[in-house]
Amino acid sequence: MTKKIVTLSGDGIGPEIMEAGLEVLAAVAEKIGFDYVLEAKDFGGVAIDKQGLPLPAETLVAAKNADAILLAAIGHPKYNSAKVRPEQGLLAIRKALGLYANVRPLKIYSELKGLSPIRNVENVDFVVIRELTGGVYFGEHTLEEDKARDVNDYTADEIRRILRFAFETARKRPRKLVTSVDKQNVLATSKLWRKIADEVALDYPDVTLEHQLVDSCAMLLITNPQKFDVIVTENLFGDILTDEASSLAGTLGVMPSSSHGVGGLALYEPIHGSAPDIAGQGIANPVSMILSVAMMLRESFELENGATLIENAVEKTFTDGVLTQDLGGRATTKEMTDAILARL
Ligand code: ATP
Ligand code: MG
Repeated sequence: MTKKIVTLSGDGIGPEIMEAGLEVLAAVAEKIGFDYVLEAKDFGGVAIDKQGLPLPAETLVAAKNADAILLAAIGHPKYNSAKVRPEQGLLAIRKALGLYANVRPLKIYSELKGLSPIRNVENVDFVVIRELTGGVYFGEHTLEEDKARDVNDYTADEIRRILRFAFETARKRPRKLVTSVDKQNVLATSKLWRKIADEVALDYPDVTLEHQLVDSCAMLLITNPQKFDVIVTENLFGDILTDEASSLAGTLGVMPSSSHGVGGLALYEPIHGSAPDIAGQGIANPVSMILSVAMMLRESFELENGATLIENAVEKTFTDGVLTQDLGGRATTKEMTDAILARL
């Protein structure tokens, strides 16, 4: 059956890297016989300029009716003090689609390990899964002159849902190891988190579960990143740990992500922003978008073969020394994309 993919190119380097991602998608689809249609919609700054708001109704309707959504990047400094900002569109679409699981893989390619700020990064390959709908971000916040209070709420159902997602993810990976991260020596929410994690683990005898306190996890990400396979954690810890994990790679330009919703719909996007400083120059690294396409094939369409084809072609391109400026090379967006296409 023909799959419908909604594309949101957005702002800055967004359109440049989206074009690259779609070229790779077309080539892989032909190889593996994947049948799809694209529907491009306005989102972010470009939607504000054309229609006055970052998430127009027709964009949201199209997204809700899609089989998957590809988003490149949004934002521009010109909206920094504006009343309506591109980032509001991102919050609105996440909420409207009920996106509850944010997935960020971190794989350090051996050709790029020199970019890492730490020495010991051989064979690092893990994913961080962050809960997106609960926790202190959505609790009550009160600020008074001499005291302040933030409420951290989690229900058992919210915790169970993200833990199941993590175990399902681990089940499809060779090591089948889940590290559940909490602060159960201090927080009540973490005590519940740990209890539910142990319960969910009973349904996954093929997957190993271990618990880690967030402070020790933060340390191990630097001292022993090879230890991890699938890390799962609540919203606030996930916010911090995903940023820490991505800095291990030493570059934003190669990192994809996915966010999964309650009905199974998912949105795929690079973790970086719209990079206004290099927009329009044709030098942006398209790999983050191309690997987001690979994640889409794997996670939304169960096309492991298509995903692997793309990932292997990207790795081979690095091995052959074709690198964009952010990776220390001189290839343009188009040269990088063509090199990947040639190695598919
Ligand atoms: P955010 O939009 O999340 O607030 P930011 O504005 O701080 O993030 P980005 O837009 O992600 O940051 O860019 C940070 C730096 O990384 C910029 O110098 C940008 O040029 C560079 N960068 C980001 N993505 C890419 C890419 N795909 N290729 C090359 N350079 C990139
Ligand atoms: Mg930005």
